[in-house]
Amino acid sequence: MKRKGLYYLIIILFTFSPVVMDTILSNEANRHFPRTWTLFLIPTILIAYMYPKWKVIVGASIFYTALKFTTEVAQKTSTETYVMIELTTGSVINWSVVLSVGYFMNKSSKLLNKVEELTITDALTGIYNRRYFDFIMEKTIPFSKKNNTPLIFMLLDIDHFKKVNDNFGHQCGDEALKHISDIIGSNVRDTDAFVRFGGEEFAVIMPNTDVDEGLIIAELIREAIEKSGFTYNNERIYFTISIGVSSYNGEEIEEFIEKTDTALYKAKENGRNQIAIFN
Ligand code: GH3
Ligand code: MG
Ligand code: MG
Repeated sequence: MKRKGLYYLIIILFTFSPVVMDTILSNEANRHFPRTWTLFLIPTILIAYMYPKWKVIVGASIFYTALKFTTEVAQKTSTETYVMIELTTGSVINWSVVLSVGYFMNKSSKLLNKVEELTITDALTGIYNRRYFDFIMEKTIPFSKKNNTPLIFMLLDIDHFKKVNDNFGHQCGDEALKHISDIIGSNVRDTDAFVRFGGEEFAVIMPNTDVDEGLIIAELIREAIEKSGFTYNNERIYFTISIGVSSYNGEEIEEFIEKTDTALYKAKENGRNQIAIFN
């Protein structure tokens, strides 16, 4: 945030100072100083760095070119041909530099976005991974504390999943995980964070949700999975899932996870294919 402020300051400074400098110099010496405008490279490159999108880069270049020519024309000093040639050459150089730098910034920004996306995505299911879970928990818990809003966390573990691997092979297990993650994903809301917690275990973080609402969604998921069969090599396979639910109560993240895990363990112990709440 602080750094962004500094960047804006530099942009403003190097937008106005060449205009003021050039105007004063031209008035004093009664001639043009076309090279002053090289300074516009600073704000243009900084803008390209902050917003590495072509629209912004080209837009900024057009703005600075227009500002330069407007300032020059507004000066009473006569604009001779050689000055115009120098001004135009200067613009061509500035544009070449900005477009070249912009090209690499645009490319590296796209690459960085892709890498960021990959680091938080689970390769098998395409949903968020554990790294994203940690990140979102670290944001959601303080938000819930500060605004005194309810927060629900649920852990979902497929029942007897080992048998699927044993009976139908690991490939089938992988396909089943994708299938089950799709079902859970289609039953959570846009405001919930749904992640693969590890192995055949999923997690859903539900901000602004109380226990009753959480239980309704948990039941929707449980039922949807129970009903939805999965076909592998012409064989119909059915799954069930156990869900542990807990409500945030001011504790540390680790304890919140522990609470939910205890609830999940209870659901398993009570016979699986059910929901248990920590209390
Ligand atoms: P429970 O009802 O107690 O949860 O029984 P379970 O068999 O599901 O539990 P357990 O933890 O004993 O086994 C989980 C299995 O999930 C073991 C492991 O082979 C399988 N598994 C975990 N991750 C993957 C994966 O990415 N692909 C496949 N195919 N199997 C996985
Ligand atoms: Mg399991
Ligand atoms: Mg498990």
